Amino acid sequence: MRTRAATERAQAKHLVGLIGEGIGSSLTPPLHEVEAAALGLDYEYRVLDLLTLGRAPEDLGALIADVVAEGYDAVNITHPCKQIAYRLVDEADDDAQRLGAVNLVLLREGRTIGYNTDWMGYRDGLVAGLPRASLALVVQLGCGGAGAATAYALLMCGAVDLRLVDADERRAQDLADTLQELFPSARVRYTPAVDLGDILAVASGVVHATPLGMTHHPGVAFDVERLGEGTWVSDVVYRPLETELIRKAAQRGLPVLDGGRMAVGQAFASMEIITGVRPDRQRMERHFRSLIEHESGAFGVANG
Ligand code: NAD
Repeated sequence: MRTRAATERAQAKHLVGLIGEGIGSSLTPPLHEVEAAALGLDYEYRVLDLLTLGRAPEDLGALIADVVAEGYDAVNITHPCKQIAYRLVDEADDDAQRLGAVNLVLLREGRTIGYNTDWMGYRDGLVAGLPRASLALVVQLGCGGAGAATAYALLMCGAVDLRLVDADERRAQDLADTLQELFPSARVRYTPAVDLGDILAVASGVVHATPLGMTHHPGVAFDVERLGEGTWVSDVVYRPLETELIRKAAQRGLPVLDGGRMAVGQAFASMEIITGVRPDRQRMERHFRSLIEHESGAFGVANG
């Protein structure tokens, strides 16, 4: 049963924003607003694009102070501000602390409380979309913002052996070191790109978390033919949903998970934390997929 405070929170007017750079074409506002309307919530979601506002990422603290004054009750945070947001908030939940990144800030009674729902979105998508996925030996390409969240989620889901690859070797090494410390019972290793071919042949699954495959960044980061039979393949790229990687893997008959699940999952978790009301995940999925299908195809690199 809901407490009185929770009921009041659900019934309150919600003013929410998305802060990031180059986010004009983000699908997050319609995703939140349409679901909120279906739930009967009074909910407005605004885009606060640093480029349009003429503000630098370092101005995030001042911008958050502005939105507090304007009566916002939460902001989602996206590229390039997630680490800055983590350093700014008054408190952060355990996972955001371990990730050192925040993509949701609740603004409550003068305090800022940070969460990371990116990893939750990936976890939920993996569990629902690839329920039989073996996590015995997972290879991940890309160790930036999205990659940190997927790697963390994989380990939270029980990955036994995780190999991290990135064109920026230092980045892969640093993420591997951080996660190995957080998950001592797993094996987390940086893997040089030259060793990728051999490891792909024996991997139980592969996560792709680089920008390759986006509409304006076509390509595949590795040779799908090198994967063994039954290896599952997961892409974080969602514009388009069917990346070249997903298409090639599906053509080979491999189990696939597209980037849409993670994108919807982080929005689902954010909405639930903001409002205290559980959204309808399937309805959000259908809406998100229809939004992607209806896009004309001419947009920039928008996160969030
Ligand atoms: P980022 O710039 O933080 O990280 C990308 C990483 O990929 C970098 O470390 C880079 O060195 C590495 N890289 C690039 N090309 C490579 C290659 N060929 N081989 C190996 N490593 C390579 O970017 P990000 O924020 O992590 O975003 C990555 C992708 O994930 C983008 O397409 C973004 O839109 C998508 N994304 C999806 C979701 C979702 O919810 N599905 C969420 C966030 C980001």
